Parts: sequence; C-alpha cells; structure tokens
Amino acid sequence: RAKDQGPDRFKVFTPRLHEEAVWMMSLETDMDRALAEGEFYVVFQPIVGLEADTLMGFEALARWRHPERGEILPSEFIPVAEETGRIDALGLWVLSESCSNMADWRAAHPEARPLILSVNISSRQFAKKDIVNDIRLVLEKTNFPADRLRLELTETAIMQDARTAVRRMKALRALGVTIAVDDFGTGYSSMSYLQQLPLDNLKIDLGFVQKLEQHPENREIVRAIISLAGGLGLNVVAEGVESAIQKQVLSELGCQMYQGYLFARPMKPEQAKALIMGNRETTDDD
Ligand code: C2E
Ligand code: MG
Ligand code: MG
Ligand code: MG
Repeated sequence: RAKDQGPDRFKVFTPRLHEEAVWMMSLETDMDRALAEGEFYVVFQPIVGLEADTLMGFEALARWRHPERGEILPSEFIPVAEETGRIDALGLWVLSESCSNMADWRAAHPEARPLILSVNISSRQFAKKDIVNDIRLVLEKTNFPADRLRLELTETAIMQDARTAVRRMKALRALGVTIAVDDFGTGYSSMSYLQQLPLDNLKIDLGFVQKLEQHPENREIVRAIISLAGGLGLNVVAEGVESAIQKQVLSELGCQMYQGYLFARPMKPEQAKALIMGNRETTDDD
C-alpha cells in the first residue's frame, strides 16, 4: 500500500517553513496595495492610572483589514514589514494617522486633560538615518504637540547600535518627545545600562504581568523592575492587565499606570473619542 501513503507522506514532509515563506511573500506584495488603498487602520488602547483608572493616554496599534484574508494581526505583518523595509512607510503612516486623530480630539475637547499618545517604533524603523526628522515633520504636519507624544522602543532597537540610538533619543527629547522602553524585561539590555539611556518610561512586558498570579517569583521580578524604575526616575506602565488580582498586586508593588483588557481593549477612533468625553459604554471592540 506504499502508493497510498504518497499523499500522506507528502503532507507530513511538507516543510512548514515553505508554507510560511509563501504566506509571507503574499503579505509582502499585498502590503503595498494595502498602504495605498487604506486597508490599514489604527486602534487606540487606553493607558490609565492604577489608583483611580484616570485616563492618561492611548497606545496606537496598527491593524490590517485584508479584503480576502480578513483581519491580520500585527504579530504577522509587522515582522514582514520590518524584513522588507516597508515598516518605514507603515510606521510613519501609523504615527501620522494617530497624531492627527489625537489632534482632532484635542481640538474638539480643548477642556479635556492633555493625553499622551504612545506610538511603537520598530528596530528597523529607528535605525533609519532620517527617523528623527521624519518624526519632526509628522508632528509639524499634524500639528500635534511634541510633548504629548511618547515613542515606544524595544530594548533591541536601542541596544543594536546603542550610541546612535542614544543620540537619536536625545534629539527626540530635545523636541519634547518622551521615550518608553516597550516589553521591558524580554530583551538583552543590562540593567546597569539603563541609567545611561535618555528614557522616561518603562513598559513591563505582559508576560510578567500575566504570570503574576500563578508564579509568585514573578512578583519579585516585577517588584525589582518597579523599584529600579523608581530609582532612575522613570514611570512604569504594566501591559496586559486582564484581572483585578493582577491590578491589585501591581498597585501594591507601586506601579503607576496600566494598560489591558481589564480596563479596555484597543478601540476604534470614535470610541476613543467617546471615552475622552467620559463615555465608557463601548470599549470592547478589538
Ligand atoms: P506592544 O507594543 O507591546 O503592544 C501591546 C500588545 O498587547 C497589543 O497587541 C495589545 O493589543 C496587547 N494587549 C493589550 N492589553 C492586553 C491584555 O490585557 N491581554 C492581552 N493578551 N493582550 C493585551 P497587538 O495590537 O496585537 O500588537 C502586538 C505588537 O505588534 C505590539 O506589541 C507591537 O510590538 C507591534 N505593533 C503593533 N502596532 C504597531 C505599529 O504601528 N508599529 C510597530 N512598529 N509595531 C506595532
Ligand atoms: Mg507598544
Ligand atoms: Mg509591549
Ligand atoms: Mg511589543
């Protein structure tokens, strides 16, 4: 019956890598069209104060509504965009789109407390020579105040060429922009290096937050991160807070801000605007 095994064998030995490569290549070619045709959009996830759930700002997150494949998550398209260099255009589009949204909301609600807009900048994007000037131009074009913009960089983005990164971070801060380390604790930066970096904010990776309940040793890691941040004068945002217990523990450990499904999922611009107006009815759209 060897013949019958043919198709099965084929299936078993089809290298997954090949399928993945094909998938990535198709995403790659679709991405140009997607940018031109407006298939990308931005959602906003609230960042709130731990004490009283005061709205402090939003993180802008990219989404892709593909006409045939449906919603594609950033964990799939961001790596492709990075590998192919399209992250430069995509990242600047997200920045520009989110700044102009926030600028509109500010104009509509000048009485509202000023909010921070937090935007992810990927390693490759940050490595681009003109990045500081590109960001400055977006701020000018969208009329968004630089001191309300926070850029989220990963440890990798900073450490792969630390001297250049520090120079750029300083140039951005000179504009008034603040800087956060994203996914803190997952990268390779040594703790002692942190004090030499021009930083304002640490975002504790959701991996630590989500293990707070099951693994008590995680509590010590988070405690150490928060105390380190405090010593260096940095604010801390906990990512991925899903339960009241996690929130409780974080608050006991002295964390100031959080972001997570417990408060709200990333939401469409209209919902974010409604939230600013004090309307919290529709906050669970992803
Ligand atoms: P990130 O910057 O660490 O963003 C936080 C991620 O955690 C988001 O995933 C958010 O939806 C998710 N999240 C927030 N609260 C919770 C929670 O309570 N539980 C769980 N399970 N997840 C939560 P998302 O939107 O899928 O983005 C994933 C990553 O993709 C981001 O991680 C960021 O690294 C990257 N990304 C997204 N948008 C952009 C972008 O415009 N530019 C760049 N360079 N990267 C982006
Ligand atoms: Mg982020
Ligand atoms: Mg993160
Ligand atoms: Mg991340």
